[in-house]
Amino acid sequence: MAKDLSKTQWHGIPRENIPWYPTVNADACIGCELCYVTCGREVYEIELQDNKRRKARVERPYNCMVGCSTCAVVCPTEAIRFPSRDIVWKAEREYKIFKIVHAEAQAKRDKAGAMAERQKAEEQLSSTPTRASVRIAGVFGEKQFLIKLQHLIKDRPFDIVNLQLHVPTLQGLSENTPAYMDFEVTSTSQEDVTPFLSELRAVVADNDLVWVER
Ligand code: SF4
Ligand code: SF4
Repeated sequence: MAKDLSKTQWHGIPRENIPWYPTVNADACIGCELCYVTCGREVYEIELQDNKRRKARVERPYNCMVGCSTCAVVCPTEAIRFPSRDIVWKAEREYKIFKIVHAEAQAKRDKAGAMAERQKAEEQLSSTPTRASVRIAGVFGEKQFLIKLQHLIKDRPFDIVNLQLHVPTLQGLSENTPAYMDFEVTSTSQEDVTPFLSELRAVVADNDLVWVER
């Protein structure tokens, strides 16, 4: 359903106090519908006259943006007219709108600044590595490596998930045959996991295990 903008304000002035809107000369209108599709404010409707001729009709005059005259510019037959621009200038002077305009301009800059900050934060977040896959190889045997991992993540915003120990043979395990372990490091608070990975590398080295680069 079309929106009625007649009760809105133009820089503090009730919209209905500014008679800026188009009128259509029906005789000159050839029903091309360009005004109807051009106007983004649903000012126009198209009606069928005698069940065959299309004519543009101004249905919601106060939806028209004060100062806009695009539809008149594009109308191929100059069927659309606007009042003199004097009425806009008169309204600007009478209502002393520029204090409001400056406040609106500042709000616009603030909003643009906030949007830019938000976009920057989102870009930063999307480029922050918050998850990493890790493969470690070696003899795990009696090292209690998992317990050391548990200590490492205790009370910290990191977790270790999807942990899998790949053992070539069970018999081999008791004979200290090398195995490898896969897991993922994740941040539980969207933090960069890179510094944590450095700590993890140190624990791996201390346990005579090998960090497999992939
Ligand atoms: S653009 Fe002009 S000619 Fe075309 S429908 Fe609108 S008023 Fe009529
Ligand atoms: S002047 Fe602009 S806002 Fe007003 S009716 Fe024409 S296209 Fe729509």
